[in-house]
Amino acid sequence: MQVVLKNLTKRFPARNKKGADVIAVNDFDFTIPDGQLIGLLGPSGCGKSTTLNLISGLETPTSGQIFFGGEDVTKLPPEERGVGLVFQNYALYPHLTVEENIIFPLQNLKGAQKMTKEAMRAKAREVARLVQIDQLMERKPKELSGGQQQRVAIARALVKIPRVLLLDEPLSNLDARLRLQTREELRRIQRETGVTTIFVTHDQEEAMSISDLIVVMKDGVLQQIGKPQDVYDEPANLFVAQFLGTPQINTFEGEIRAGKVYIGSEAVLDAPGKKDQKIWVAIRPEGFIPDENGPFTCKLDRIEVMGRDVSVVSTHEKMTGRNIRSIVSAENTIDPAGENVRFSLKPRKVFLFDRESEARL
Ligand code: ATP
Repeated sequence: MQVVLKNLTKRFPARNKKGADVIAVNDFDFTIPDGQLIGLLGPSGCGKSTTLNLISGLETPTSGQIFFGGEDVTKLPPEERGVGLVFQNYALYPHLTVEENIIFPLQNLKGAQKMTKEAMRAKAREVARLVQIDQLMERKPKELSGGQQQRVAIARALVKIPRVLLLDEPLSNLDARLRLQTREELRRIQRETGVTTIFVTHDQEEAMSISDLIVVMKDGVLQQIGKPQDVYDEPANLFVAQFLGTPQINTFEGEIRAGKVYIGSEAVLDAPGKKDQKIWVAIRPEGFIPDENGPFTCKLDRIEVMGRDVSVVSTHEKMTGRNIRSIVSAENTIDPAGENVRFSLKPRKVFLFDRESEARL
């Protein structure tokens, strides 16, 4: 099911006369293609949950429209939209068994959709098998691990075959190992069902690893939408560049002069055809090549061994942030006792941004 957001805005009124309204979602206008897994990504308070709640119908937009397929669902109540919802706290019924929890949404079906008890149990078994909890049907939620509980919640959301599956931080209650495992599972389940799935996370790595498309948001404003690798390789602005990638991209105050990029007094890269101006220079950790004759000199702090690679930690008077992290192959021989380290830069890993607007140049 394709989901279209058309000029969608949600404004929460100020709580008192002095306060300002909050525009949690500001004029969202994009299409979520049928059958894909979409990650809504951004820092706390950027409007991710509000977007999801607008799509599910739990919130009413201030203006704009939402379409499922060709159908305008903007005014439909949640129960008529055909969405499956999974929240961070699994919200299972504690006194019901796993099977009864999964069957629950089917019991309210009316008219032609009404199902016999046997049909409901068969359907529950089918989705339980899909999320691999069919061995646990007789247990109560408290007898399950967090990961298993979340699978029950996913099964319950899938049992009516939703038009759209919505997940709000579904993995954040799980420990690190289970989180990794469950996100792979989520990907598999989504592929097998083909249900258009939108999930919210503030964890960029999580969103990058399983999404077909990521939507990066900040302060209610859409920053960029695209395939994870494309957004990483071609960030639209400094915020997106800094939000994606670990270690974080390294940002420097810089300047373009006579077709060259300067950081401090050094011309580190060519920038043919670009006008003289103050800029931000952002360099991915993997964009540094140790090179005795390289144009960019940093003050060496320490070298951290990570196995196949090493992390070179250095500083520079024009950097923002606490230090510069570059990831280079362990085969590079950098003198750990040296005062400075020199680099040449991989042009595709260096991004230039307007100093004022922070838009990509
Ligand atoms: P988090 O990751 O912390 O859950 P989020 O990206 O999901 O954040 P939202 O919960 O969508 O963000 O909130 C977006 C903005 O709207 C925030 O500034 C929040 O304070 C505000 N907001 C959300 N719900 C309401 C409400 N019911 N009344 C007033 N303001 C609200």
